[in-house]
Amino acid sequence: MKTLELATEVVVVGSGAGGGAAAVELVQAGREVLILEMGNRELPKSFTQREEQMMPRLFQDAGARTTADKAIQVLQGKGLGGSTLHNLNLCKRIDPELFELWAKTRDLPDIGERLRPHYDHFEKALSIAAVPEDRINRNNQILRAGAEALGWKNGPLRHNRTGCIGSGFCELGCAYDAKNNSAKILIPAAEKGGAKVLTGIRVTQVLHRFGRATGVSGQILDERGQVVGHATIRAERVVLAASATGSAALVIASGLPDPYRQAGRGLTLHPGATVGGVFDEPVDGWKGVPQSWECDELLHPTDPDRRMWLVPVFGHPVATAAMLPGLGPEAVARIGSYRHIAAITPMLHDSTVGRVDARGDARPLLHYSLNDADRRMMAKGVSAAAQVLLAAGAREVLIPTAVPQVVRTAKEAIAVAQQAFGPLDPPLAAVHPMGGMCMGGDPHTSATNADGRHHHCPNLWIADAGLFPTSTGVPPQWSTYSFGRLVGQAAGA
Ligand SMILES: Cc1cc2nc3c(=O)[nH]c(=O)nc-3n(C[C@H](O)[C@H](O)[C@H](O)COP(=O)(O)OP(=O)(O)OC[C@H]3O[C@@H](n4cnc5c(N)ncnc54)[C@H](O)[C@@H]3O)c2cc1C
Ligand code: SF4
Repeated sequence: MKTLELATEVVVVGSGAGGGAAAVELVQAGREVLILEMGNRELPKSFTQREEQMMPRLFQDAGARTTADKAIQVLQGKGLGGSTLHNLNLCKRIDPELFELWAKTRDLPDIGERLRPHYDHFEKALSIAAVPEDRINRNNQILRAGAEALGWKNGPLRHNRTGCIGSGFCELGCAYDAKNNSAKILIPAAEKGGAKVLTGIRVTQVLHRFGRATGVSGQILDERGQVVGHATIRAERVVLAASATGSAALVIASGLPDPYRQAGRGLTLHPGATVGGVFDEPVDGWKGVPQSWECDELLHPTDPDRRMWLVPVFGHPVATAAMLPGLGPEAVARIGSYRHIAAITPMLHDSTVGRVDARGDARPLLHYSLNDADRRMMAKGVSAAAQVLLAAGAREVLIPTAVPQVVRTAKEAIAVAQQAFGPLDPPLAAVHPMGGMCMGGDPHTSATNADGRHHHCPNLWIADAGLFPTSTGVPPQWSTYSFGRLVGQAAGA
């Protein structure tokens, strides 16, 4: 077994949206920075566009991570650049109304104002812009047409891409290097400023003594993720950016001071179902930019009765086969319609609050089970997605319950909203874990202060989506980049 012992001024654990943003600020503040990433340095040219090869390379647990009760598949990334390597590049700011709520209820005065310059910075740095009209694929046009036919609010989305050729393989990593993400923009900027990067290091402990962090230790992994050694990094400051689930699990596994037991609390997921409409003509939903249009008729940042966001979703063959309802010959027949399926995910701005725990080796364990209000909201969202697909001309819509249902009329689709969804049914997926190390002014109800500094360990910061005090209702990457920059400036001062 190899051993590695190093010392640095600041160690940053994780290289995704938050870690990349924080690292750039730390080197700009003149700090000696070492970035540790459990995944590999993945080069776009090597992305094969094959699910069975790219899922294990770019996803935690090869894409098979779930909540503890297995009800929700939770997708999170690994590799230098984290989840920004394979995400779908949607960019939205958190609504000012939600910031006002956080200001009042989480003792975070001016949080919206404090984040604004960081949002503005990344708008330029990541070239965030509207998806060009000629890049809106058939799957997205169907959502647009259905929402318009119903008279529901809808509109175009913004992305962080340059030179996108619309191949449709975003979720398996962009072989054309068109994503303006942490791997392409931030990590190179941090390295240019002097940051060192070590990949294949999975941190398992934050070392601490007398209430102060002294560094981190963990496993050295080979390219396939096998443990081949042990690393210890001494550091004067520690910044955790191992994601909403990873940072909380590390804090818990390390036994850091936590008198009010706040580490791991506040987990939200934005879970979503997949509702497929079968069309007479081919849709070929995997071709082109996957998500470029939204329907936000049922979404409001703070209204408890409007918490559903409708966006198109697509799947490569394996993912689609796994998502389609039914078993045996019925499932085989459904996948036979692959080219003719358009799909929408109703994504929940969740009121359910779960909890991250740590397994023995600091891997996250996610306790999260939808509350009754959210199950009702999910039924409403599935119903709304079915209505949109039918309004756009779908011949039939597949309701993704364990016992599959098919609806063919608007009346049947509307009735789905009244169904009582169970704790494990329909199967859900989540790509936006948030919370776990929530930011707030009160140490009794939050894990970090308004600068992301741990309330009880003054030289430890959190710089990832774990900081969000509640579910946001919008895709989290732009906000995570912005929080990461805010925390990086605080930790570098
Ligand atoms: C399929 C998918 C699609 C998405 N699409 C969008 C989208 O279109 N728009 C949007 O806004 N958001 C999207 N997201 C979410 C977005 O990518 C994340 O919210 C964002 O990247 C979170 O940033 P982060 O820094 O918190 O974590 P991440 O970007 O996940 O980075 C965390 C990093 O820490 C590393 N790490 C974890 N544990 C350890 C450890 N113990 N030791 C060392 N390293 C560790 C991980 O390997 C990873 O690289 C998507 C996510 C997925 C999975
Ligand atoms: S659609 Fe664009 S960003 Fe996505 S993989 Fe293809 S070229 Fe890259």
